[in-house]
Amino acid sequence: MSSSYIAFSVPDIGEEEIAEVVATLRSGWLTTGERTAQFEREFREYTAAERALAVSSCTAGLHLALAALRLKRGDEVITTPLTFCATITAILHAGATPVLADVDEDGNLCPDSVRDRVTRKTRAILPVHLAGLPCDMDRIWQLARERGLAVVEDAAHAVGASYRGTPIGASSAPSDAVAFSFYATKNLTTGEGGMVTTGRADLYERMRMLALHGISKDAWNRYAREGSWFYDVVEPGFKYNLPDLLSGIGLHQLRRLESFIAARRNIVELYRELLGDIDELELPRERPDRRHAWHLFCIRLRLERLNLDRAEFIERLRHRGVGASVHFIPIPLLSFFQPWAALSRNACPRALALYPRLVSLPLHPRLTADEVRRVAAITKQILLRARRAKRTYAPCA
Ligand SMILES: *Cc1c(COP(=O)(O)O)cnc(C)c1O
Repeated sequence: MSSSYIAFSVPDIGEEEIAEVVATLRSGWLTTGERTAQFEREFREYTAAERALAVSSCTAGLHLALAALRLKRGDEVITTPLTFCATITAILHAGATPVLADVDEDGNLCPDSVRDRVTRKTRAILPVHLAGLPCDMDRIWQLARERGLAVVEDAAHAVGASYRGTPIGASSAPSDAVAFSFYATKNLTTGEGGMVTTGRADLYERMRMLALHGISKDAWNRYAREGSWFYDVVEPGFKYNLPDLLSGIGLHQLRRLESFIAARRNIVELYRELLGDIDELELPRERPDRRHAWHLFCIRLRLERLNLDRAEFIERLRHRGVGASVHFIPIPLLSFFQPWAALSRNACPRALALYPRLVSLPLHPRLTADEVRRVAAITKQILLRARRAKRTYAPCA
């Protein structure tokens, strides 16, 4: 058995990406320009979105979308506790109050639980497509329509996923905006980066203005005769643009994305074949009406059958040369959010019960079949050794 470490996630950067970065460096234009415009065009085409804005991160994209919706202090945004902290901080930075609903059996935002949380103050719903499996969107959209709410999707894991035949991010879907992440571990990476898609012209124009200091393009045009040095600022904006240096990487990653997802899917199939017969764990489910982007392969330990806990399991994996992770530490367990999350209306018992069981195994396009077999064999050994003795009951007299 090889002793080399199997990393949880490794970016798949090809020669095209490297050559594009070098060409950009030599071009004399490093910041947002023609390569970013091209990346936005191709991303629009891939997701069937009418508009796409390249941004510096998914966090920036979520913040921009919520800011563009003009949320006021006291407005509420309902989201999931099983997410990265950025989902919540984006809501806070937009000036609104996050409200936690609970999760469904996939670990995704549960529509029934969202319905319970809606009040007169609710303005938006923010679903997160955990691991790359789309949420139950029809029921979320229906609720949003009934109650006049906006929907902003955190699609950090879901580039390439689709729901009932429609790509996540498509403008034929009723969401107001969809934010994607190109962080180093994500399905498509530019190192750091993101994209927001929307079908709404007003939202797009406002996001574009806010993404670049609040500089008004209209004012720019109006005063163009003043000369190219003139600009006007109509709001205190942010600095959220994606530079050409990174968009060039994104262009090639996007062209390779389908092959990445196919490779991820093959690895998942192999994991299923090798781990399917172990009673001590549950494998992630697929849904026939959704295309899973397979960003993460999250297994669930059956702790009642084991005499080890999740931390110990991950430590044993690490000791045997396998990197693993957890997605996610529920928001109520993070210090900053604790006092607020302790409010009874933010209660999410299902997410908290799921958390101690969650382990994400290595999944990335460069993982070889041999490495997957090694991860599966080690996982199996650890679990079988930690198997709790079956209780036997004496028959009734
Ligand atoms: C990675 C991630 C983000 C943040 O993405 P960035 O591009 O790093 O800002 C947001 N939400 C979820 C669920 C994530 O996994």
